[in-house]
Amino acid sequence: MINLETPKKFKPLVGQANQVAKEVFRPISRKYDLAEHTYPKELDMLASLIDGMNEGSESGAGAAGVRRTSKDNGEGGNRNGSNLSTVLSIIELCWGDVGLLLSMPRQGLGNSAIASVATEEQLEHYGGKWAAMAITEPEAGSDSAAIRATAELDGEEYVLNGEKIFVTSGDRADLIVVWASLDRSKGRAAIKSFIVERDNPGLKLDRLEHKLGIRASDTANFTLQDCRVPKDALLGSPEIDTKQGFGGAMQTFDNTRPLVAAMAVGVARASLEETRERFAEAGVEIDYAVPALSQPAAIARFLELEAEYEAARLQTLQAAWMADNGKPNSLQASMAKAKAGRTCVDVSLGCIELCGTVGYAENELLEKWARDAKILDIFEGTQQIQLLIVARQLLGKSSAELR
Ligand SMILES: Cc1cc2nc3c(=O)[nH]c(=O)nc-3n(C[C@H](O)[C@H](O)[C@H](O)COP(=O)(O)OP(=O)(O)OC[C@H]3O[C@@H](n4cnc5c(N)ncnc54)[C@H](O)[C@@H]3O)c2cc1C
Repeated sequence: MINLETPKKFKPLVGQANQVAKEVFRPISRKYDLAEHTYPKELDMLASLIDGMNEGSESGAGAAGVRRTSKDNGEGGNRNGSNLSTVLSIIELCWGDVGLLLSMPRQGLGNSAIASVATEEQLEHYGGKWAAMAITEPEAGSDSAAIRATAELDGEEYVLNGEKIFVTSGDRADLIVVWASLDRSKGRAAIKSFIVERDNPGLKLDRLEHKLGIRASDTANFTLQDCRVPKDALLGSPEIDTKQGFGGAMQTFDNTRPLVAAMAVGVARASLEETRERFAEAGVEIDYAVPALSQPAAIARFLELEAEYEAARLQTLQAAWMADNGKPNSLQASMAKAKAGRTCVDVSLGCIELCGTVGYAENELLEKWARDAKILDIFEGTQQIQLLIVARQLLGKSSAELR
């Protein structure tokens, strides 16, 4: 039987994350939305606390606790592990503020990439640092196989050259996980990820972006010019296995897409809860015992949005649970990301519509959540790309056959 309740062992974690969201994130939410590019110094102490919570625990509290271990092989019954606990805590924290979660030291998507694929030696060397993820280039967004950045082996070092844009936490992180090709003639199989120290002289910050939403989070553009990194900064195998194709690099996404879906679920829940409170203030009562369409139109619309939210939430939990139980979850990870990204945008805009002027004004956070929502439908693969991946998997088509 499926038990849809939060596992008992994660309840304290979820409670703590909710408290942080309520008492730390929400009060400074508007401040850092307005003060774009200013580092939220309040997060320093919180980040240390989260490090403490993660230490000696299998369950991740922030965005980085997604390592798959040899125990995640599906044997010995179902287990709830770090992916599920991370997803649950992200939902709570993003109910508070997604831009602030993305600004949390040591909780970057680069950290998840390192946690997913690094060797034990690499983990020891680079663990405990804050890592951003640099895949996107001016000519390579959705089509990451079109990456032009190159990595050439020169003795005991790789030399990286190219341009990377829209790197979340790129200015503040200690490390940047850079995707580059070992040999552009060999296509996607030659694309590997490399850990670059932020203060590497070959990594030049070009500019920070001004954005629609998640304005507390910095977004950096870089040029890599003869950027030298040690040979063991390459994550995974240096071999170009054309049979495996993009498999190695894509493995990261199976873990990170449910995390982004969880961010979307958190933002959607914030909008729904605020709207429910506005309804209550206005004396509008939702009756779950009566069919939606027998109630006022505003309530019917609210119930529709709430149902979409529930579907997105369950899909996200399923994708994370599968990762914890050693089950291949590429399909579910993409489904969750597509569903939650779209739902978050629909719900946050729908709630503005339902709340009218209150929803649109800056006195409340509803308008901010609607601005923050859109990125969750874009980064880590847009909704359209996720749907393409889902279609390929369901129809058994390759990326060359269905593009
Ligand atoms: C705030 C922000 C933060 C970001 N952070 C990071 C980061 O940390 N690291 C990083 O590497 N990148 C990051 N990105 C980049 C992000 O991942 C890309 O923007 C995204 O992958 C889309 O690429 P693109 O913008 O080049 O759009 P394009 O690929 O040019 O796509 C444009 C539109 O066409 C659609 N489209 C493209 N191909 C197809 C197709 N085959 N079928 C149907 N529709 C298609 C897309 O869905 C999209 O709607 C960030 C972006 C933003 C805005």
